[in-house]
Amino acid sequence: MNEGYRSMWQNLGLDLVAHDALLGVLGKYYQDIFLAQKTRPAGMKYFDFVMSEVHGLRIKELLDEKNAGRKIVGAYCVFVPEEIVLAGNATLVGLCAGADFAVEEVEKLLPRNTCALIKSTFGFKLGKVCPYLEACDMIVGENTCDGKKKAYELLKDLVENLYVMDLPQVKSVIGKSLLKAEYHRFKSAVEQLTGVSITSESLKTAIRTVNVKRTAIHRLSYLRKADPSPISGLDALLTNQVFFYDNPARFADSVNKICDELEKRIADKKGVFPEKTPRILVSGCPQAVPNWKLPFVVETSGAVIVGEESCVGERGTRNLTDDSGKTVEEMMDAIVDRYDKVDCAIFTPNPERLEHIQEMVAAYKADGVIHYGLQFCQPYIMESIPVEKALKGKNIPTLCIETDYSMEDMGQLKTRVEAFIEQLR
Ligand code: SF4
Ligand code: SF4
Repeated sequence: MNEGYRSMWQNLGLDLVAHDALLGVLGKYYQDIFLAQKTRPAGMKYFDFVMSEVHGLRIKELLDEKNAGRKIVGAYCVFVPEEIVLAGNATLVGLCAGADFAVEEVEKLLPRNTCALIKSTFGFKLGKVCPYLEACDMIVGENTCDGKKKAYELLKDLVENLYVMDLPQVKSVIGKSLLKAEYHRFKSAVEQLTGVSITSESLKTAIRTVNVKRTAIHRLSYLRKADPSPISGLDALLTNQVFFYDNPARFADSVNKICDELEKRIADKKGVFPEKTPRILVSGCPQAVPNWKLPFVVETSGAVIVGEESCVGERGTRNLTDDSGKTVEEMMDAIVDRYDKVDCAIFTPNPERLEHIQEMVAAYKADGVIHYGLQFCQPYIMESIPVEKALKGKNIPTLCIETDYSMEDMGQLKTRVEAFIEQLR
């Protein structure tokens, strides 16, 4: 790691010893999980580089942007519209973390039975190991699940400039009008932060920029429908994770380069795994970096993951925002229309998600579904019950797992996943 980064991290207030330990574990983990894979697309080298510099070069780029007068906005949810942030001359970064850190400190603040995603948010702050969080000029929380809602009441004392966005819990006319009102309030907050008024030109450009990166991911998803699968679920998940950190245009270019390569692989019938390898759709809670436990277990047990019905995946990236509006008002409406379709389990009732899972099973020719629930995540674990019932009713093999970020259940998880895959052969 470039030594120049140490002073950058120090200036951001990171705990260098704890941060070194985190990077050490992350590097080894990445080596063992990603670099140990065989027949990866050559284009994944870009993502290897991004990961090797995830706390280095990317942070330096963000700090350079700040020095040039741009603001950095961090978010924990795909309901925060990147279009509005970009149009206001700011950059959006995802802040969700997928690793336990400073657990003892966290459990002094939060109940033990809080999901790992929320605990990790607090752990990265209390442990002073997340340069993204420390680089942010505004941190956006959202009223989604109860855990997050209440956690932001505590997080506001730990970070500067926490902005909380209210979100509907029901898909209805009233729910949509709340979303619209909240997106307008957020637009004003971004304008106030940056001192830049959002215009029809800046909003159109921003919508197009985000659409380009979503389109690249849609192309990648489409190619994963091939059998044999031209890319592993691990590598595809990684691209979906980097979606939240990278410069949007560079990200789209890099994904498109991989897609060019995958098209050739498909034409040559070359896959990462042999043809007829059992194909799995993963559905449920988001998997943030470096939460690679489930795909690692699945893909070292003889199956391939062909899709993620997840916010780090198709739930988060599907649907483009209509860019044909002429006024700011029309484009804000288009943004509301696009995000109103996100079928997170916090909505009640939530039949769209059930339909989407079944559509994905058919489109990706999945042989089975693994429902991924983080322990203590009420929305997704509760919703796994109707999901399992509906899928089993259609003879789609389904395995519901509940896990966390620790490695303690690796053995048990592997046994269950192997037995499930055996059933799919
Ligand atoms: S699962 Fe729900 S709360 Fe979490 S990022 Fe997705 S939309 Fe937001
Ligand atoms: S929706 Fe579930 S996984 Fe996401 S923050 Fe809430 S409890 Fe955690």
